[in-house]
Amino acid sequence: MNAPARLAFLADFERLLTEAPFVDSYKFALLIALAELAVERGDDSMATLTLPIRDIAAQFVTIYWRQAMPFGNTIGDGASSVLMQNPGRKAGMIMEVTKLRAQYSSLHAARSGPHWQRSLTRISAGLEDLPIKRLQRLRQGSLPFLYAYDAGSGTIELLPGVAANLRYFHGLVVRAVQGEWLRFVQAMPANQRLLGATTDLSDFLFGSDRSGLERARDRLRMMQADRCFYCESPLRESVDVAHFIPWSRYRRDLVHNLVAVHPACNAHKGELLAAGPLRERWAAWTGLHDTDLADIGAAAGLIVDRQTALRVAEWSYAQARRVGADVWLGGRQYGTLQDAEP
Ligand SMILES: [Zn+2]
Repeated sequence: MNAPARLAFLADFERLLTEAPFVDSYKFALLIALAELAVERGDDSMATLTLPIRDIAAQFVTIYWRQAMPFGNTIGDGASSVLMQNPGRKAGMIMEVTKLRAQYSSLHAARSGPHWQRSLTRISAGLEDLPIKRLQRLRQGSLPFLYAYDAGSGTIELLPGVAANLRYFHGLVVRAVQGEWLRFVQAMPANQRLLGATTDLSDFLFGSDRSGLERARDRLRMMQADRCFYCESPLRESVDVAHFIPWSRYRRDLVHNLVAVHPACNAHKGELLAAGPLRERWAAWTGLHDTDLADIGAAAGLIVDRQTALRVAEWSYAQARRVGADVWLGGRQYGTLQDAEP
């Protein structure tokens, strides 16, 4: 794709965020869902990408799963401590997620439970009714640059080059949408009292599922023979469960992407990709231990999907190579992918 086509996409995206009315959080969630699906299923050509609305609905549940938890410490008078995201009767799709949360201990359990398909049907109907129809509308006129939608088809089609652009600008798109979403939640009067009290709102809305990671830790340690995945020295008392493909690049807790490591090694790697032998070791690891990792994921309530983890890895390394990104080579050594994997 040529540079003007990329810039035109960014300009349209910026117009959408600034000019379209955002009266509930669904449009933000839809944008993030499309960006994730472009990474997981799209490619870097100009091709269109057809997405079943049910698959978008499944992404929706993942996105709202955290947010349907009570926020911070419960407040004294017993009033709801779940953040408001949508005024009035428009809260239906979030209610579906709240119901699933009440019935299942984890997202993984919900996905394999008997209520899942029915919930997806309801959420799909809500998606068609609200954000899919409305996302590309401005206050006046419309900006149909992302997808085409025929009512009743059960799918949307990302227009030529859109999946490629969402992959190319994924970090930028997701951060921009999350920033707007954060402002939206902060500004809702119903949330003011809750937000007065407590911790980091951004982390609550968009952070990783720390409790799931904690639950996976002991078994990951065991599988790794109690050695750090990065430096292979014995682990000590304090152990981090880290995302091999950094969270800043891809924000879903896939169990195949988790490794138990020294906090110091984790800090050295930071938000960079690991290159060279580490990358090969990780790819081999996900294959060798596929079944065990699936078990751990099921027990810890994390997403089990090796194919997606590998596709995400392929995409993020291709991206890093294209922009000449810094990568981590282990210890205190850094370089670029060109140095590490010429
Ligand atoms: Zn280490």
